[in-house]
Amino acid sequence: MSQNKLDWITDQLESLKADGLYNNIRTIDSPMDAWVTIDGRKVQNFCANNYLGLANHPRIKQAAKDAIDKYGVGPGAVRTIAGTMSLHDQLEADLAAFKKAEACITLQSGFTANLATIPALVGKGDVIFSDRLNHASIIDGCRLSRAKIVAYEHNSPADLEEKLNEHTDYGKRLIVSDGVFSMDGDIAPLPELVELAEKHGCIIMVDDAHGEGVMGNGGRGIVDHFGLHGRVDVEIGTLSKAFGVVGGLVAGKQEIIDWLRQRGRPFLFSSAMTVPDTAACIEAVKILQESTELVDRLWSNGELFKREMQKLGFDTGETVTPIVPVMLGEAALAQAFSRKLFEEGVFAMSIGFPTVPQGKARIRVMNSAAHSTDDLERALSAFEKVGKELAVIN
Ligand SMILES: *Cc1c(COP(=O)(O)O)cnc(C)c1O
Repeated sequence: MSQNKLDWITDQLESLKADGLYNNIRTIDSPMDAWVTIDGRKVQNFCANNYLGLANHPRIKQAAKDAIDKYGVGPGAVRTIAGTMSLHDQLEADLAAFKKAEACITLQSGFTANLATIPALVGKGDVIFSDRLNHASIIDGCRLSRAKIVAYEHNSPADLEEKLNEHTDYGKRLIVSDGVFSMDGDIAPLPELVELAEKHGCIIMVDDAHGEGVMGNGGRGIVDHFGLHGRVDVEIGTLSKAFGVVGGLVAGKQEIIDWLRQRGRPFLFSSAMTVPDTAACIEAVKILQESTELVDRLWSNGELFKREMQKLGFDTGETVTPIVPVMLGEAALAQAFSRKLFEEGVFAMSIGFPTVPQGKARIRVMNSAAHSTDDLERALSAFEKVGKELAVIN
């Protein structure tokens, strides 16, 4: 009886709006930095994954401009046909050295890095053990592979081992987990996962998107944080968060990286990272290799913010990273909190169901090395004011 074959979409959109679940996307009219311009107003930015402030870093901008003058803008083709430029080779060599991995391959994004890697490693007749809270791109990579997917309880090596024992009748077996879980800021128990992988003969893969440039010595990632070099077969990373640009990477065992150059579908059938992005990332690696200053500042900012929020009486959940969730409970309260913060000049997003469980809505505060101590104090005052207004704190 429908009058139009697309009416159902209109209905779905209306119901999202009615439930308060419709994405209202804000437009930023300035560089991505500690302060951004939205609707003509300068506000403090606590939403971006720009952990180190590299998105608007003068050296990185200059590197991108210089590369454009020398190489133009586009790679021209997929990597295997005519799209691999010396810049791509250099970035991959630099990233492998930075992360102390045998080899590295870059892709268009962290999302496509998962889509390239998982189906290249496992297929029909194989099995994947996946943390229940893994990122959407891992889930999609698992589905594309057509392997059997077994979800284990979040960060539970005990449940993983039980499931490993229950699912032995398969070809290859892959364990995959996020490194940092970005909604709560908790991290995977990677040493235990590695031990289980070794004991049960599984391939082990970690997606370190929020750990790249954040965890480990000078931002070398979660494998470095736990000193597990050579024991994690393959690491996914992104150049779109701490690196401040856009792109994805896979680092790990040489044979896996060689295999991805032959069988990684987003590598074979989608064009390479652009020239300015690639050059910008090369400069970002250089900056990280020269000094741990930005990474250190990110962590001290995160610690300061968390400590002061706890002193004010806020619940900051289980985070062990610079991500600080401010737990509020109901989605409506979190949305109201975010709106009022915005009126106070602080842009910090509320996150509710289905991204996080029902009743666990929150404001997620993304700290950054770009924030000055003054910035943090100003934001803390705004949180205190709104928290009292909404009776979240006394
Ligand atoms: C953000 C994220 C991605 C996607 O990275 P992009 O480079 O933005 O595509 C993949 N995995 C995890 C765990 C992430 O947090």
